[in-house]
Amino acid sequence: MAFARIIAVMKFCSICGSDRIEYRIPEGDSLPRHVCIGCGVVHYQNPKVVVGCLPEWEERVLLCRRAIEPRRGLWTVPAGFLENGETVVAGAARETLEEASARVEVLSPYTMISLPHISQVYLIFRARLLDLDFAPGAESLEVRLYDEHEIPWEELAFRTVTRTLRNYFLDRKTGAFPTRVSTLERKARGTAPAALR
Ligand SMILES: [Zn+2]
Repeated sequence: MAFARIIAVMKFCSICGSDRIEYRIPEGDSLPRHVCIGCGVVHYQNPKVVVGCLPEWEERVLLCRRAIEPRRGLWTVPAGFLENGETVVAGAARETLEEASARVEVLSPYTMISLPHISQVYLIFRARLLDLDFAPGAESLEVRLYDEHEIPWEELAFRTVTRTLRNYFLDRKTGAFPTRVSTLERKARGTAPAALR
C-alpha cells in the first residue's frame, strides 16, 4: 500500500448490531475494510470534505476568530464540513453565513489541500462579499476585514488557512488566481499535536 490509512475501529455493525466484524479485503477490492459477518455489509471509510470561502471586499479579506475548539481564539476563513446532499458551492456559502452572517457570491475554487494524515480535503473558494452586514455567528467570537499588512499570521488557526492566504496575496500581485492543488503532511514530531495545523 503506497499510503497510510487511518481507520476507525469498529466493534458493532451499525446496520444489524452484530459484533461479528472482520477486517479484511472484500472480494474484488484492493484494501482491507470492516465487513459484517452478520449481514454482509462492507463498511467503507472515506475522507471528509471541508468547504469554505475566502471572502473579499475591495482590498480586504474577511476572517473569523474561532469561538470553539480546536483552536479557539485563533483566526480562520469561514469553513466547515460539507453535508450529505449538499454541493460544494452551497456548503461554502452556508458556512460563511453560519460563521460570519455574511452573504457572498462564490467565485472560483481557489485552494484544494489534501490532508491525508487526517483523511480530509479542504476546498476553499474565492468569494465576493455582497454587503458589510456581517457579524459573528455562534462559532465565532469576532469577524472582521483585514488588509494584507494586518493579517495576524501568528494567530491563524490552521495551516490550510495560512497557505490559502499566502497564495492569495502572492497571486493578487499578478491578478491571476489559478486553482492551487497541494498537500499538507503531518507535522514533524516535537511540534504541537494539532492535527490540523
Ligand atoms: Zn451487520
